Amino acid sequence: MTILSFFTRASRAFNGYPASSKLLLLCTLSLSGGGVVAYSEAQVDASKTSVQVNEKDCKKKRVVVLGTGWAGISFLKDLDVSAYDVQVVSPRNYFAFTPLLPSVTCGTVEARSIVEPVRNIIKKRNGEIQFWEAECMKIDAANKKLFCRYTVENNLVGNDEFSLEYDYLVIAVGAQVNTFNTPGVLENCFFLKEVEDAQKIRRSVIDCFEKAVLPGLSEEERRINLHFVIVGGGPTGVEFAAELHDFVQEDLINLYPSVKDLVKITVIQSGDHILNMFDERISSFAEQKFRRDGIEVQTGSRVISVSDKEITMKLKAKGEICSVPHGLVVWSTGVETRPFVKDFMGQIGQANRRVLATDEWLRVKGCEDVYALGDCATINQRKVMEDIAAIFKAADKDNSGFLTVEEFKDVIDDILERYPQVEHYLKSKHLRDVTDLMKDSEGNYIDKVDIEGFKLALCQADSQVKNLPATAQVAAQQGAYLSKCFNRKYKWKDNPEGPRRFRGSGRHQFHPFQYKHLGQFAPLGGEQAAAELPGDWVSMGRSTQWLWYSVYASKQVSWRTRVLVVSDWTRRFIFGRDSSRI
Ligand code: FAD
Ligand code: MG
Repeated sequence: MTILSFFTRASRAFNGYPASSKLLLLCTLSLSGGGVVAYSEAQVDASKTSVQVNEKDCKKKRVVVLGTGWAGISFLKDLDVSAYDVQVVSPRNYFAFTPLLPSVTCGTVEARSIVEPVRNIIKKRNGEIQFWEAECMKIDAANKKLFCRYTVENNLVGNDEFSLEYDYLVIAVGAQVNTFNTPGVLENCFFLKEVEDAQKIRRSVIDCFEKAVLPGLSEEERRINLHFVIVGGGPTGVEFAAELHDFVQEDLINLYPSVKDLVKITVIQSGDHILNMFDERISSFAEQKFRRDGIEVQTGSRVISVSDKEITMKLKAKGEICSVPHGLVVWSTGVETRPFVKDFMGQIGQANRRVLATDEWLRVKGCEDVYALGDCATINQRKVMEDIAAIFKAADKDNSGFLTVEEFKDVIDDILERYPQVEHYLKSKHLRDVTDLMKDSEGNYIDKVDIEGFKLALCQADSQVKNLPATAQVAAQQGAYLSKCFNRKYKWKDNPEGPRRFRGSGRHQFHPFQYKHLGQFAPLGGEQAAAELPGDWVSMGRSTQWLWYSVYASKQVSWRTRVLVVSDWTRRFIFGRDSSRI
């Protein structure tokens, strides 16, 4: 038997086994070879995937999910698919692990290592989820209908457009890059939002170096070609600048030694500091590190236009306008609502808003049976002052016109759950107990309050309402939360678990969504990172970078991508990054 035919047979035999056997076989093979390969994909045996769609299924409510990003996939992962007819629409037939996108721009990690095909993910759900690779073009909320289009340009035959009806719609389409209508940005800048963007940047960085070393260029021309500008000093812009700096210092200057002193990286930030959403200690640590690395941070500058040769900005302090020639500009300044979502907002009376609003249960305001989560929506937290009279009335059980400490304590759990800003307010004022709020206008403790005193106690709580950040962490938690609600929608109909309704009677069916902040990382290059951890902890330096490696390895959606990402990191440590322009 030739080696080739041996491998073909072995591979056929291998593919015939379920994943658990593959895991066993792989572990045995690799252990005997001296290494440990952990591959434990929890796939469902193909023979079991044919859970027959019976007649009962026809009566199942149809859930249509738009989007296969963090929110959409985390919703699908835990959804009880036996209870619904689930259809998924997304122009991307894969899930992308966005926190590693900056690593793709410089080849630290390969693009295919951070994506997982949607069909792999839904295959594990007994084939009960249908996936359509298409873009939703319009939502017709009145008729519960969607209009979709296959958007890949090719010469394949058949109709590209179709419509779908839904009983429940889950909008998880993320957001699009915001150029703030700055002239020239769309035409002349690179973005870092999708996998394709990261691949384009990787090629273009190499182009800049190859062009800069061609014969016949002046030193000034070489210098311009090697001027990399990043607009936006948020986590993505900063991480890209750090990645690029590492790529240049660790790999490219050895390959292009003649231009090694001409490379310049500039980060332009309109605010006073980079990473200004992080703790001050992190943002100043990042600024100091960048200064040491020679990355120029230009704060207080607003970009007003970008041409193919120059970037023009206004320096806020002096009001001066200046232009700088560039080789490549990456625009990373934030996101905005997608146009078809804007159109939908117009239909449901949200035309004046910037982002689609939902209530605390992720239900879109102004229409029935539509949910929105992730970057495309924001939760409109109900203000405690809007309901203050109703809360007082419900709490004052004996209708005395006063709330006693006992009466207050009786409703406080429901208040804290329904209006989480009250808890934040207590924390911000260092109050340990809610009864600490019961004071008269002179600040003396009292044992009962009237409506005016009650208003006084809570009037500042609403200042603690904060919008959740547009992060993967929020999107994933919202997806998991919503799937739990869907899984219990019918079973728990008569058994509501949420807080009491102050304006109506009874309780809310579910607990409102509550975000748990698990911390946030900012990789800063040179094997250093900064992290904001729960409980106001801040950690910076090399050990934090190792924490980053372990967290991001563990957060991968599948064992396949986990193995690929870790092996990419290992490859980079041993061989460096690949500078081929492919
Ligand atoms: P997305 O993940 O963007 O998914 C949207 C989905 O909708 C996609 O599948 C898209 O194809 C699909 N879609 C788009 N249009 C349509 C349409 N018309 N019809 C149907 N489907 C559609 N967050 C963190 O918490 N930590 C990080 O370290 C971090 N790093 C990041 C680094 C980068 C470079 C970027 C770009 C983002 C990063 N984020 C990070 C933010 C995080 O990626 C987003 O907050 C998260 O992706 C939001 O999830 P989502 O599901 O709302 O949207
Ligand atoms: Mg009373």
